[in-house]
Amino acid sequence: MFENLSERLSGVFDRLTKQGALSEDDVKTALREVRVALLEADVSLPVARDFVKTVQERATGQAVTKSVTPGQQVVKIVHDALVDTLTGEEDPGKLKIDSPPAPVLMVGLQGGGKTTTTAKLAKRLKEKEGKRVLMASLDVYRPAAMDQLAVLGAQIGVDTLPIVAGQKPVDIARRAKQQATMGGYDVYMLDTAGRLQIDEVLMQEVEDVRDVVKPRETLLVVDGLTGQVAVEVAEEFDRKIGISGVVLTRMDGDGRGGAALSMRAVTGKPIRFVGLGEKMDALETFEPERIAGRILG
Ligand code: GDP
Repeated sequence: MFENLSERLSGVFDRLTKQGALSEDDVKTALREVRVALLEADVSLPVARDFVKTVQERATGQAVTKSVTPGQQVVKIVHDALVDTLTGEEDPGKLKIDSPPAPVLMVGLQGGGKTTTTAKLAKRLKEKEGKRVLMASLDVYRPAAMDQLAVLGAQIGVDTLPIVAGQKPVDIARRAKQQATMGGYDVYMLDTAGRLQIDEVLMQEVEDVRDVVKPRETLLVVDGLTGQVAVEVAEEFDRKIGISGVVLTRMDGDGRGGAALSMRAVTGKPIRFVGLGEKMDALETFEPERIAGRILG
């Protein structure tokens, strides 16, 4: 059976260490395990390397407390270091939507879960924060995507901007802003078009929309199961558009959560929410503890 990282670490340490402090050699052996496990969890190599260095510094020479085994102690050091790496200064669930109507731009590749997440987040803002939300689809290439947002809106009781055929994304964005202002909405969320991969036309279009509405939040929605690809997508969107946070979807899948660690370490951007299913309630605020637990197994 495949042992999880906690078991592997405990095993290595409990075999090795009988003395009172964690020796350098002991720590090195364990760290090899940590590195392999992180790579298996789809953490990128440079991030895994840096992380291992941090743990090495924290663990070497640390006195082993009587109440735990050395293995348990190292597991705790690794766990705490994971949580520290994943934790930012901000409160992930708190969006900057104080001055109404606050524009929220949703960006990402096609199929990442952008439209579903837009509706989930709108529902959350409505129910948890009592906000009046307007959603608008800017996906002029796929009428089905526009209809999808309208259907979800009706389902969750959140208004969507009426669809007008033949308008450009920036014009729809302007219309959304106008309707949000006149209609007294607190927030308007713009669900931009995605592509299968990043291309210049897509980026230019999103940039134009950004310049028109000046979003308070720009959230990148990416499939958490795509690991390193998710991180590359985030870097690219951040470089071109500037993102304020990330939503990792499909975290209900069997991925090990390594993308979250790389995401934070590489882009420096906070993960705000995680998608945990297709249902409208399946969105949670990002919790470093949970992801750390998942990476450790
Ligand atoms: P978009 O092209 O980025 O707008 O993607 P959609 O919102 O249309 O989502 C694509 C598919 O992924 C749909 O079938 C969604 O129900 C599904 N989906 C979105 N988020 C999640 C999630 O967190 N977990 C799971 N299991 N499915 C999701």
